[in-house]
Amino acid sequence: MPLQQLVLNGFKSFADKTTIRFNNGITGIVGPNGSGKSNITEAIRWVMGEGSAKSLRGENMKDVIFAGSQMRAPMNHAEVELVFDNRDHQLASDDEEVVVTRKILRNGESDYLLNHHPVRLKDVRTLFIESGMSSDSLGIISQGKVDEILNSKPQQRRGIFEEAAGVLHFKQQKETALKQLDKTNANLIRINDLVKELE
Ligand code: ATP
Repeated sequence: MPLQQLVLNGFKSFADKTTIRFNNGITGIVGPNGSGKSNITEAIRWVMGEGSAKSLRGENMKDVIFAGSQMRAPMNHAEVELVFDNRDHQLASDDEEVVVTRKILRNGESDYLLNHHPVRLKDVRTLFIESGMSSDSLGIISQGKVDEILNSKPQQRRGIFEEAAGVLHFKQQKETALKQLDKTNANLIRINDLVKELE
């Protein structure tokens, strides 16, 4: 599922609609300090469902919207689109091209689209986790990430291996199932109490 194209519009320093096409193989992004290289990897993580404004170097998620410059007024919304070549169907979709979009307005409203149809954040996260990727994935190594991994606690390091091995998705499903089991057990206890009262 190679990432073919990234389209940024109003995201951080990318006030103008900017399309970046990725060819097969390795792509290097070079530029002077502060030119927006990290903003590109952050944009990719943002679309994949990144929920922490801090990890995108902001206080609030709205900080990803172009904040204005000496020459230009701030923008009211940010939108980023990822276009994947899905001919290998690694993303669970019948479509050979998958487009994932995330938008945010200044009032904090946020939308996700999958092939231009509205979906939930959960759907986007599941789509990527099932394919072995996530917004925190090692598929995206940002500045400082290697140090962070080397300094991480064994528990965090285990998470990295679990994701690489593709078991993270099943672990999350197990946790959801266990919560449902707890709820069902509590309901059963309550029903038994009611039955006893009625007897
Ligand atoms: P370095 O090589 O120093 O790590 P970089 O090329 O990775 O730099 P980034 O950190 O991606 O650069 O970009 C920083 C630039 O993005 C700064 O000029 C900052 O002002 C700008 N920027 C960040 N958020 C916004 C925003 N919301 N609106 C406008 N500009 C922003």
